[in-house]
This record gives sequence, C-alpha cells and structure tokens, in this order.
Amino acid sequence: MSLKRAVGAEVVRTGFGIFARHEVHAGRLTVRLDRRAHERHLATITGGGAVPLATEAGRTLWWTADGCYWDDDGLDADAVALLVWDRQRRQDARLDRLRKIRAAEEAVEGSRRARIPDEVRAFVWHRDEGRCVRCGAEESLQFDHVIPVAKGGGVAAENIQVLCADCNRLKSDSIA
Ligand SMILES: [Zn+2]
Repeated sequence: MSLKRAVGAEVVRTGFGIFARHEVHAGRLTVRLDRRAHERHLATITGGGAVPLATEAGRTLWWTADGCYWDDDGLDADAVALLVWDRQRRQDARLDRLRKIRAAEEAVEGSRRARIPDEVRAFVWHRDEGRCVRCGAEESLQFDHVIPVAKGGGVAAENIQVLCADCNRLKSDSIA
C-alpha cells in the first residue's frame, strides 16, 4: 500500500460571503469545491474520514484532517483514513519517546552542571572556615549553590557556600 503525502498541496478560499469557494491545489491539479461540497467534506474529515477529491493518471488525491495525500493503490476512504490515523498515532508515539529521551538527557546534564568539583569544595570549605556562613553552625553542613543551578547558577567558588541543613532549608523555602 502506498499513501504519500501530497507535498505542497493546499486548500485555499477564493471570494467572500456567499461567493466563497474553495480550491484544492496539488501540483498542476486544481479541484474546485462549491460551498456545499466544502462543508460536507469538512464534516467528513473532521470526523476522521477521508474524501477523494480527484483522480489523475491512475492516482487519487485524498483530503484528510492531516492534509492531502496521493494514493496509487485504489484504496477506499476507510483504508485511507485508517492509514492516516496510523501515521498520526506512530508520530505521536515517536514524539512521546523523543520527549522522554530529551527530559532524561536534560536531567543528566542538570546533575552534571550541579556537581561541585573537589578543588572548589576544598577552597570554599577553607574560605568559609568550615562553618555555616549564616549561623556559624559546625554540624550538618552542606555545600550550597548561592544561585541555584536551575536558575543558571554555576559551580565556581563564588557561587558555592557552606550552609547548615537548617539554613539551607530556610533558604530553599524563601526561593520557592
Ligand atoms: Zn546555619
């Protein structure tokens, strides 16, 4: 079975009001639709169906909600609608997969950017004298990104500070 997208095909309106007509252009082919035919076809394709518009050199031009297609296999409307639906479904599944892959890669990239190099840790620990820079506590200490990674903060020493867990939590709350 071969159903190919009619590349460059388009439905254009000519005229206004009661003079409005629609034309479908596909290659050198022009199919004119009067208002009633256009409305009827539109109802069919929005219902998931396919409408044969013209036959040229043994192939049929179909109009579907997903645009125009050429078919040279003598498919009927149900078969065309089914194939277009299948195309759409596969494309959705593919996009879904790609979104998941991208989200996973962004998460990896995020944690890579958040990791503080050992030499920066040593420098900051020494600079902050091994104490929470806010309250001076010497327990439950953590390295904190002054500007969070999610907001564009880096892992250079000037963006890293020593905080105790309590101060870190308070800070997170005030940012959120
Ligand atoms: Zn503290």
